[in-house]
Amino acid sequence: MAKDVREIRINPIVPTESVLVATARSMRPKQKEELAPRDTRKHVDTCPFCTGNEHMTPPLIASYPDEAHWEVRIVENLYPVLGDETQAQNYSFGLQQAIDGYGRHEVIVDHNVHGIALFEMSEQHIATLFAAYQSRMKQLYESDKRLRYVLVFKNYGPAAGASMGHTHSQIIAMPVVPFNIQSEVDNSRDFFQKSGQCIFCTLINEAMTFEATIYDKESGEIKRKIDVGQYIIEKSDKFIAIKPFASRYEWEVHILPLSHQADFLEMSSEDALDFASVLRRTMCRLDAVIGGAQYNYFLHSLPHTSADAACKDSYHWHLEICPRTSIPAGFELGSGLFVNTISPEVAAAQLRDVDLT
Ligand SMILES: [Zn+2]
Ligand SMILES: [Zn+2]
Ligand SMILES: [Zn+2]
Repeated sequence: MAKDVREIRINPIVPTESVLVATARSMRPKQKEELAPRDTRKHVDTCPFCTGNEHMTPPLIASYPDEAHWEVRIVENLYPVLGDETQAQNYSFGLQQAIDGYGRHEVIVDHNVHGIALFEMSEQHIATLFAAYQSRMKQLYESDKRLRYVLVFKNYGPAAGASMGHTHSQIIAMPVVPFNIQSEVDNSRDFFQKSGQCIFCTLINEAMTFEATIYDKESGEIKRKIDVGQYIIEKSDKFIAIKPFASRYEWEVHILPLSHQADFLEMSSEDALDFASVLRRTMCRLDAVIGGAQYNYFLHSLPHTSADAACKDSYHWHLEICPRTSIPAGFELGSGLFVNTISPEVAAAQLRDVDLT
């Protein structure tokens, strides 16, 4: 068993998103979340997202491969957080500033089987799902210049905030670039200007090749060896799944293309299949270790604003998977410091040890 860790780890990409890794029992500031079980039913008569109930959903936007034999469906959100029915109107007074909540909010029905988990879907299906994200994101970016960012995310399970049992994800097209993504873009651009390298590519290279030895400053003795390869969860020809050194969530994993690519929309359909296999295998591992993993995942890709489009060499798209196993408590909300009670090294070892054969 690894020794207890108690250290603040700085996120190299977004330093303000730093993490207190504290594995000692006495440090546990969070409650273990009582997880409501996920819905595993195959078909539910009253569910608007199940086959046969298509008339119950809000207007259809797109279906894949076609309407009669849909595997993935995109529909309007019944309760949109942003809407395009009003004229954009920004205003300010004193120091206060408001930006009109203009945008689009859509629901993607990920599969026609009600309670299917991602790792139970075929890789071909997962590739179709991500191709559907791509084509809708593209359409939204082209549809209106006011849309600055199109965010794709999935909440899976009640613990992750999913209000519908039927597996689905969401697209929100927004009039602003979300602050965390803007920070990633800005900080990785700064890193590029200093070093001529993409920070994400650098982190991937470190994860694959680097072994660090930390010496005691005074005695010169070896204090600790870090085998950086230990953070790799999955790898294929084109993609890698990494456990971040400064993971905010106990079981957080990020998937990135191995070769530099800034914009998710540029992933080819061939690469999408490879991506699907890494994602499916990662979800298998998470499910085997946590059991019925409930999670949020979100896509971070280069924003399409002209200033950000200039960051093609420095930004690198990725999928962040954040399984939910505990509820943030006052310390986290008050300090802005995420608390992680399982050391990322231990979590990565457990995920890697899962036998997928
Ligand atoms: Zn359903
Ligand atoms: Zn890169
Ligand atoms: Zn990100």
